[in-house]
Amino acid sequence: MENEIQHHKCIIIGSGPAGYTAAVYAARANMHPILFTGPEPGGQLMITTDVENYPGYPDGIMGPAMMDEFRKQAERFGTDVRYEMISKVDFSGPVHKVWTEAGQEIHADSVVISTGASAKWLGLDSEKRLTNKGVSACAVCDGFFFKDMDVAVVGGGDTAAEEASYLAKLCPQVHLFVRRDEMRASKVMQDRVLNTENITVHWNTVTEEILGEEEVEAVRVKNTITGDVSEIPIKGFFVAIGHKPNTGIFKDWITLDDVGYIKTVPGTSRTNIEGVFASGDAQDRIYRQAVTAAGTGCMAALDAERYLVEKGVV
Ligand code: NDP
Repeated sequence: MENEIQHHKCIIIGSGPAGYTAAVYAARANMHPILFTGPEPGGQLMITTDVENYPGYPDGIMGPAMMDEFRKQAERFGTDVRYEMISKVDFSGPVHKVWTEAGQEIHADSVVISTGASAKWLGLDSEKRLTNKGVSACAVCDGFFFKDMDVAVVGGGDTAAEEASYLAKLCPQVHLFVRRDEMRASKVMQDRVLNTENITVHWNTVTEEILGEEEVEAVRVKNTITGDVSEIPIKGFFVAIGHKPNTGIFKDWITLDDVGYIKTVPGTSRTNIEGVFASGDAQDRIYRQAVTAAGTGCMAALDAERYLVEKGVV
């Protein structure tokens, strides 16, 4: 029966490196995990080009290809991957309750949270109005639409550096707006940006407004030192200013920090709720790497297994 409440030993919420790694371990430990992919199956790596820093891939691998391998490995051991989103949880009792967006209630003895993080936006009205009309948070997804056109990227971290470098291969001119007089990006990424001829870095520069009615036509920026305001014609505007953890649905139950990252007991994946474990970017405000996410996904599955053994469930 469709609306019958299902009960599982282990539910994993999220399908990035943390979720799929938790699934590999949980499935191999006979916990029969159900993994809910969420709205972006594969997570943030689906919008990345070359992953060059994941051990075991000496020549690098494309983000989506890597996530495909993660999923296949999790499924090989019997993970039930469901392309659905969990929109509500109730962690008030010993049995943890979650609801899919379609309204299906599911109960679990243990839950692994691996919901990751999402791109942040500047918060300008014009940014919202022109989203998908030239404004994007993903150069890899949308860059191709701006082939042979001038574009801009805002941000000073590794993501902005990566997006600018990617777009420089497609577009004649890439403007990079950095709000301070230095970038936060790693040295190697910065060097790549600074040594790319068709990337112009605008230091101490903030975006005032994105201009255009039906599509992006230009951007108005201000130099915070001189106060100079200028309009730069562009067709694509890429926001790359960091991410926020996807933990909103847990906030009534799980202890979060001031930014929204899940607090775990140091050295473990345990949250304040027994039987609920957290992994990946949802609980990591420092490292936020695919390999660290995978590592914490492993920890969460091992912690969940230990918990289920103690409870006599497996
Ligand atoms: P970061 O938080 O590292 O950087 C965000 C950048 O955006 C900072 O330069 C910040 O400026 C700037 N910024 C924030 N808010 C605004 C705003 N309102 N207006 C203008 N600029 C703003 O995020 P990233 O997404 O770049 O990186 C996240 C993590 O992922 C990092 O650990 C990074 O190393 C990693 N990463 C690694 C990659 C790789 O190795 N291939 C690729 C991409 C990411 P300020 O510095 O002034 O705060």
